[in-house]
Amino acid sequence: MPQNLWNDAEAKALPDLDGLVYRSNLLGRDRAVCNIFGGNTSAKIDVVNHAGRQTRVLAVKASGSDLATITEPQFAILYLDDILPLINREAMTDEEMVAYLDRTAFEPGRPRQSIETLMHAFVPFKHVDHTHPDAIISLACTPNAEQTAKDVYGDRMVYVKYIRPGFTLSKWIGEKIAANPQAECVVMGKHGLIAWADDSKTCYDNSIRIIAEAEAYIAERKRGKRVYGQLTVPALPEAERREIMTEVLPVIRGAVSKRSHTILQYDDSEAVLDMVGSAKSGEVSQQGAACPDHLVHVKRQPLFIDWRADQGVDALKKLVQDGVADYEQRYGEYFETNKEPGDELRDSAPRVILIPGIGMVNTGKDVANADVSRQLYHRAVEVIGGAEALGEFVSLTAKESYDIEYWPLELYKLRLRPPDRDFAGKVVLITGGASGIGRATAYKLASDGAHVVVADINTENGEEVAADLQKRFGKKRAMFVHTDVTSEAAVQNSMQQAILAYGGLDVLVNNAGIAGGMPIEETTLADWQRQIDILATGYFLMAREAFILMKRQGIGGTMVFVGSKNSIAAGKGAAAYSAAKAAEIHLARCIAEEGGAHGIRVNSVLPDAVIRGSSIWSGDWKAERAANYGVEIDQLNDFYRQRNVLKVEILAEDQAEAIAFLAGPRSSKTTGAVLTVDGGVAAAYVR
Ligand code: NAD
Repeated sequence: MPQNLWNDAEAKALPDLDGLVYRSNLLGRDRAVCNIFGGNTSAKIDVVNHAGRQTRVLAVKASGSDLATITEPQFAILYLDDILPLINREAMTDEEMVAYLDRTAFEPGRPRQSIETLMHAFVPFKHVDHTHPDAIISLACTPNAEQTAKDVYGDRMVYVKYIRPGFTLSKWIGEKIAANPQAECVVMGKHGLIAWADDSKTCYDNSIRIIAEAEAYIAERKRGKRVYGQLTVPALPEAERREIMTEVLPVIRGAVSKRSHTILQYDDSEAVLDMVGSAKSGEVSQQGAACPDHLVHVKRQPLFIDWRADQGVDALKKLVQDGVADYEQRYGEYFETNKEPGDELRDSAPRVILIPGIGMVNTGKDVANADVSRQLYHRAVEVIGGAEALGEFVSLTAKESYDIEYWPLELYKLRLRPPDRDFAGKVVLITGGASGIGRATAYKLASDGAHVVVADINTENGEEVAADLQKRFGKKRAMFVHTDVTSEAAVQNSMQQAILAYGGLDVLVNNAGIAGGMPIEETTLADWQRQIDILATGYFLMAREAFILMKRQGIGGTMVFVGSKNSIAAGKGAAAYSAAKAAEIHLARCIAEEGGAHGIRVNSVLPDAVIRGSSIWSGDWKAERAANYGVEIDQLNDFYRQRNVLKVEILAEDQAEAIAFLAGPRSSKTTGAVLTVDGGVAAAYVR
């Protein structure tokens, strides 16, 4: 049941617009009341305009914001008296409506008003909530939805059949409410709910109470029923699911990323496992979308994979690949059947993939987008289940779906998005990402759109980097995985974590390292072995596992090895380190040779003397190097600056820039190369 979350003490002090923000956030807090990014709210407010005149404005949610997190600047504010006379018109196209409303802006610079603004204006009450509650949509997605809604509310409700939002729907709603003064809500066929009042608290109370009535009605009819049928495929044990998906997610990612790189979210929550394993889920899930607001992020149908564990993992991979190809073909047919002049086919890959015994996989252009799809399919499961409990689920038709998916006003929201950056939709794993060059690279690639896996033995610093990246770029845009690159099992675990979090991997930055130098006679076997283990073996293990994963995905990939000036210039007094660094770049070239056939590029960056921010310079290394060159420790920075021909200090950010270039699309025809980033040191000039 929806909880009434209103708190008088919190609400009282808030003036009109802030009060509207408060109410909106409360509604958005419960996703069974209001979908992520769905629904909208409004208030009609008396204000004094810039000329000192008393005037009425409509504050309404702007297009593309989410009620749960909406803030005051995300409301559009429009002159209400300019809008109200529109109800007397016979018709208005979407373009006319938007152009008209754009001219009623009370304050310049606010975002564009919701597509449903006219409906808010025409409801003759001060406060209006339009939500997409699961239970209401269940009522509204049954064969005789109007009668079903009447059974719950009697004449306290007026019903409007489904049409795409716009002028006509708004006019119908305004007129129906005017003609039915006893009504306290509108149920919108295959869409949602409108409730209202003259004060904000009553408006909220009404929304919650009306939704609770529908929930109680459905709960009664659900009692003792399994709405998706008997459980025919029980969930596999969690560890087994994860093992299987470690192999299968990269295959899915490859299949759905043909047009552009896609991030996956894997959901094996109880509700999903129960649904996908039930007898009727394969059939019911294919009916169509339950609500226009779901559709935009889950598409008309999920891809249902009819697989049983006894068929084996290879069969699942094949079913997924064939399933995606078939889905894309069917999507193309849907596009051809319904397209209007000027329409262009958009991504035809599924956004939701259901696998019995395993769970659900959602796709998106980034992790936030994939997560919206995940959240909305949870809502769809509830809505469809509710409708089935009431008799039968009736979805939007193919034509209705198409008209939403390719609606110019929906496409407008997509156009608001900034153009894709170099690493949009890509997953990057950086070893040694907790410090120095790796850390600077993590920030650089994240700011260029990457999802970043920070792999390091330093948990404290690694977690701090990941948390800060999340704060700056989004909740799931980065993660930390404790990884010792010398351990085969740890390296494999880091790949598995990347797969389970994002679906795969596109870029490996092989960077974790140490320093250390001494004359050859003093170099113990243990010293030698340590350098070889971390620098040579560590780079090998990471690269091998990344190679296997990239090949499985089948969409190419890049690796950047962070070598050193010492990879090609003999490092006096640092034989073990230099030999290991030389091994790294030769390893890179060998893998470049093998990777070409699979679109996997491997290049190296060779830094020299990055002192600021690097922890390898905080130990004995600095003293050793100073002694080696016969300078004081505090002169070392200047020594290195004077050593290069450009006389510049070399920064971790300079390395990150070069790594981003070699890892990204701007170097798409370069592989097996080395790029020095050292200010120019003749000994390291590449010959
Ligand atoms: P740094 O010490 O600041 O960062 C290295 C990171 O690697 C640390 O966070 C450390 O915890 C991690 N690490 C060490 N051993 C690990 C292991 N076994 N498994 C996982 N993580 C491990 O050093 P940096 O200067 O940023 O160096 C990064 C790379 O650049 C190294 O490969 C280094 O050899 C190379 N490099 C650095 C310089 C320089 O002057 N700083 C010059 C040439 C090459």
